Amino acid sequence: MTQQTPLPKSALAQLADPRLVRQFSYIGGKWCGAANGDTLAVTNPADGSWLGEVASLSAEESAAAVDAAHDAFATWSGLLPQERSRLLRRWFELMMAHKEDLALIMTLEQGKPISEARGEIDYAASFLEFYGEEAKRPNIEGVTSHLPDAEVEIWREPVGVAALITPWNFPSAMLTRKAGAAMAAGCTVVAHPSGETPFSALALAELAERAGIPGGAFNVVTGRAGTVVEPWTRARRVRALSFTGSTEIGRLLYRQSADTVKRLVMELGGHAPFLLFADADMDQAVEEAVKAKFATSGQDCLGANRFYVERPVYDAFCRRFAAATERLSVASGLDDPDIGPLMNEKAVAKQEEHVADARARGARVLTGGARHAAGPLFFQPTVLADVPDAALIMHEETFGPVAAITPFDTEEEVLARANDTEYGLVAYLHTMDPRRIYRASRSLEYGMVAVNRTKVTGAPIPFGGYKQSGINREGARLGMEAFTEVKYVCRDWA
Ligand code: NAP
Repeated sequence: MTQQTPLPKSALAQLADPRLVRQFSYIGGKWCGAANGDTLAVTNPADGSWLGEVASLSAEESAAAVDAAHDAFATWSGLLPQERSRLLRRWFELMMAHKEDLALIMTLEQGKPISEARGEIDYAASFLEFYGEEAKRPNIEGVTSHLPDAEVEIWREPVGVAALITPWNFPSAMLTRKAGAAMAAGCTVVAHPSGETPFSALALAELAERAGIPGGAFNVVTGRAGTVVEPWTRARRVRALSFTGSTEIGRLLYRQSADTVKRLVMELGGHAPFLLFADADMDQAVEEAVKAKFATSGQDCLGANRFYVERPVYDAFCRRFAAATERLSVASGLDDPDIGPLMNEKAVAKQEEHVADARARGARVLTGGARHAAGPLFFQPTVLADVPDAALIMHEETFGPVAAITPFDTEEEVLARANDTEYGLVAYLHTMDPRRIYRASRSLEYGMVAVNRTKVTGAPIPFGGYKQSGINREGARLGMEAFTEVKYVCRDWA
């Protein structure tokens, strides 16, 4: 079944450009529903209202997307780099032109405050701009020959079809961060967005079509993740798989991809420590702590989960951080509060579980600690003090607006505690001592270290984690690595 998407009668109808709302998968340049008419409902987490339905494809229909991407590979990879660059640039420009609509779609289906959604659209578009430029950079490395009478060259070639699987917390940026890099390298892609937030990805497919990206180069397949992704992991034609999501599902996809030895990019969970030494600027530390904990309503892989505070400033930080947290507004994302709803009931239940467990182990609740009156999926911004290391919140991702604080006495002790985790995505460090900054930045087993600040992300930096927070990097030139093969050519010169 292939047809245009009818506009759902829901809050999405208020878009300036209603054609950005698509309900079908986008495969080979066509909008496709499931042959059996199966759909998945999408709701607004702020009030539970129905937003629309998207096609729920079968495993066979999902496999057909790989065929479409494979068929388009010769065309896409055969374009002059300048032409691929021009098309990615055009896609970027269309995202910026439709920023308000794209942000509105995101807030409606994901719940994040509208200012944050606008920020994510800027961030998402920046990957298309950045990789549009990278597409033009030379893909041949010169090497001095080590053989007499021979000339050697190293080429970078696109790996082929890449599968991209993205989460609901950054439904646009995680997709463009992958697709920009893969498509700049010359790969064609099949993408599966989270079933919670498919409209953001489908709107990007609509804009890809308008940008003139050839059919089959960028495909979006909606449906049940276990059904539509599994055939991609088995397919020999899918040469690379890039996943952003939980470490648990990352492990599963790693195993499923083993039989076909795929190139992998894994951007997985985090459990960021926030280290505050007594010599830090306290005003700045409190301000940055609020951002590090409560951005994206706490549903952020970069979210600070554990706050380690040096004992001489422990009481002052607890008091000031709790006071700043109490001032945060909580409401529907459309009202542009500091904190919106959580994604689903499972997420809210996890906040309750982490708070109850910490309390049972002796933690004090300085503010919050319970569901919020704004609606079933809202949780009060919460600060817990004196949280013991054994508490669940000190080693499991909380993924919500609950902060855990604990004191420390020495640098050696806090670095050991910060590293005592399977995760290694980002660590926040607050101190004014340059030698300590150097020592701690070296010692922290994290892919990213933010010193006296919170915001570190952007298209030109290598984003990714140590240990079980992931494999490979996204962003920067490095983000294209897994989407390319290295070919060494040695030519006889005699
Ligand atoms: P998730 O449950 O692991 O889901 C991520 C994606 O995988 C979604 O598209 C999901 O689809 C899909 N999926 C679920 N089960 C699957 C299966 N059996 N086979 C194939 N695909 C499957 O993660 P999430 O709850 O959406 O996102 C939160 C997690 O992502 C957190 O752990 C967070 O730290 C991590 N994250 C990491 C980064 C990073 O860059 N390191 C960035 C953002 C988020 P459905 O939603 O339709 O089930």
